[in-house]
Amino acid sequence: MKKAVIFYSLFFIFLITKKTIASEDYVKYVNPLIGTDTSFELSNGNTYPAIARPWGMNFWTPQTGKMGDGWGYTYKAEHIVGFKQTHQPSPWINDYAAFSLMPSVGKLAVLEDERRAKFNHDNELVEPHFYSVILDEIDTKVEFTVTERSSFFKFHFPKTENANIIIDAFFKNSEIKIIPNENKIIGIAKNNSGGVPENFANYFVIEFNRPFKKSGVWDGKGNIILKNQLKGKHVGAYVSFNTNPNDVIEVKVSSSFISHEQAWINLKRELPENKNFDEILAEGRKSWNDELSKIKVETEDTPYGISNKTKFYSSFYRTILFPRQFHEYNEKGKQIHYSPYNGKILAGPLYTDNGFWDTFRAVFPFYTILYPEKLGEIMQGIMVNPYKESGWLPEWSSPGHRDCMIGSNSASIIAEAYLKGIKNFDIDTAYSGIINSSENEGPLSSVGRKGAFEYNKLGYIPFDSSINENVARTLEYAYNDFSIWKLAIELGRPKTEIDLFEKRANNYKNVFDSSTNFMRGKLKNGNFQSPFVPDAWGGAFTEGSSWHYTWSVIHDPQGLINLMGSREDFVKKLDEVFTSEPTSDFSYYGFKIHEILEMELLNMGQYAHGNQPIQHAIYFYNYAQEPWKTQEKIRYVLDNLYGDEADGYCGDEDNGQTSAWFLFSSLGFYPVAPVTMEYIIGSPLFKRVEISLPNGEKFIIDASQNNKENIYVNDVKFNEIRYNKNWLHHKELMKGGRLKFNMNKTPNYEWGSAKNSIPYSMTNE
Ligand code: CA
Repeated sequence: MKKAVIFYSLFFIFLITKKTIASEDYVKYVNPLIGTDTSFELSNGNTYPAIARPWGMNFWTPQTGKMGDGWGYTYKAEHIVGFKQTHQPSPWINDYAAFSLMPSVGKLAVLEDERRAKFNHDNELVEPHFYSVILDEIDTKVEFTVTERSSFFKFHFPKTENANIIIDAFFKNSEIKIIPNENKIIGIAKNNSGGVPENFANYFVIEFNRPFKKSGVWDGKGNIILKNQLKGKHVGAYVSFNTNPNDVIEVKVSSSFISHEQAWINLKRELPENKNFDEILAEGRKSWNDELSKIKVETEDTPYGISNKTKFYSSFYRTILFPRQFHEYNEKGKQIHYSPYNGKILAGPLYTDNGFWDTFRAVFPFYTILYPEKLGEIMQGIMVNPYKESGWLPEWSSPGHRDCMIGSNSASIIAEAYLKGIKNFDIDTAYSGIINSSENEGPLSSVGRKGAFEYNKLGYIPFDSSINENVARTLEYAYNDFSIWKLAIELGRPKTEIDLFEKRANNYKNVFDSSTNFMRGKLKNGNFQSPFVPDAWGGAFTEGSSWHYTWSVIHDPQGLINLMGSREDFVKKLDEVFTSEPTSDFSYYGFKIHEILEMELLNMGQYAHGNQPIQHAIYFYNYAQEPWKTQEKIRYVLDNLYGDEADGYCGDEDNGQTSAWFLFSSLGFYPVAPVTMEYIIGSPLFKRVEISLPNGEKFIIDASQNNKENIYVNDVKFNEIRYNKNWLHHKELMKGGRLKFNMNKTPNYEWGSAKNSIPYSMTNE
């Protein structure tokens, strides 16, 4: 009898548990502080806690660094100087349109160094949509939650006659205006880091829930002026209140790149009168859970005390922050945007803050699986409209064109989306943009193709030309040309055009030196440059050496195998990446750039996971019929090079790319060459994963014997049928189904290693 009671109780608990799992809160696994213990000299991520909605127009963050410092929040900092609206995609690109709010108590001092207050991580709560901190020195608690364009603050002051809120409209020209009888402040912040037209401005509006006791403005020298309005290089305002404990001052903030009128529309749409703070907070949590719950991972967790769920859902959070929506919704609910390209107000979507050199690799492929519909809008907003408004496809936008990195990877992103069936964007215009970029140098070295004329004429960019990083450019253009080739076929372009890009996709062969089995700078006369130093960073390469770029043939690994002589030669070379000493010649830069230091710290030889050029190369063992080597190395990286704390990344996170690598690789596969539509199988990290596909189907990854030791794939079944290919096609994945991995402690040299098990290579077509 007793036993039966226990049994039924357990059964009941089991039912409850089942129910709880169904509506699990995934937000609690996200740690937005991962990557914030970081610096200029050594990157552990170079992130900041972005308090945001997915793809939100405005993010908010506590600010510990000085205005204009790309390292706006760093984990080891001791003071907060403000709570900042930010749009920064990376410290190297820096911020634009920023302004901040900061509380103080007692005598008013307005500049960052004077108003700053100590904080402690024990008193801080950081979630994707919510931030809370107690500032002990002033006995004040600050809480805020956010919507896509607005934020909602609660300031809990102590009993005081001087509870101040300081508004800082930042440097590089700003304006501020207090409207005391309406409890409002409006302002304009024009700060930016380039890539904007003359008329660029962020029009912000702030609404308080009670009248001001006092208010005034201030200038960049910290002079407080009893006026309601000021304009200058750097201006701000303050408001003061009498407060008692339990008093809460609520402040609503919004902004627009179009006008103050539009900013008020944004505020009323997102923070309507009839919704209180807690309702907006709950909406924010839901907006993240709606996305994060699309992939449910199960694991017994905590190898080495580190939470793989935290690593996974924090990576997911980082992957869907950027590109941000830059458009707004007018009073009729229509999408409009200020163009950061031509300064006009135009209809339709605009997306920005993205470096395609990073994100074409895994972020956009991730979107093709979970967000095909949204990706069409993103294509229209980040490719088509910028091309119409500036004459060029972007490569690094923030918010307009920025001069950073190389390649014309917009071609890969557009071709991949279209080939995967995403058609809700203007492909004809996008294709014109692609052709334009393939033929021309742009107004900035990152836009169009620097060296396009040499590349198209000779099939490579000569080392003895004026164009730097010429081998890296040649290799990336060749993959981009492969992307154009595939897209041109799909679009039914003329045969001569198709053939041209097919030919150019082979251009990687022109910079391969078979005497060293390395990619190497080539002179105009056809000879290779010398002396050749394989570990020399920069020069012919971009943020890497020949050790890294030799593998930049993602569309044709078999072609690379043939160039190296044989499968065995290729494997030997790839093994050497991981077994060589992490030496480097950094004379090109004159100092050890942080990416080199990060490589040295990894203990993986010349493999530099902290930067993008080689992040796919572990998967190259699959092409060489030795997938077990991929499996063991992938698991090493997942376990050792990603953490769940503030120092959790092994280099720049970069707009979601390093996070998306973790997302894919922990699922068990990775899009080495996005346009091929194939995902290369590695070693799944979790016991079970359920992906909810947009068509309502589920894709299940089942690896129930998975644990810290069982890292090798013994065999695979796809929908109960034995599966020996070491890759998956996008179309198969999107139908839903069940991929069952049988995992083991020791490698199975048979599985996935046959000649007909390997992924796509152009040469084999
Ligand atoms: Ca990077």
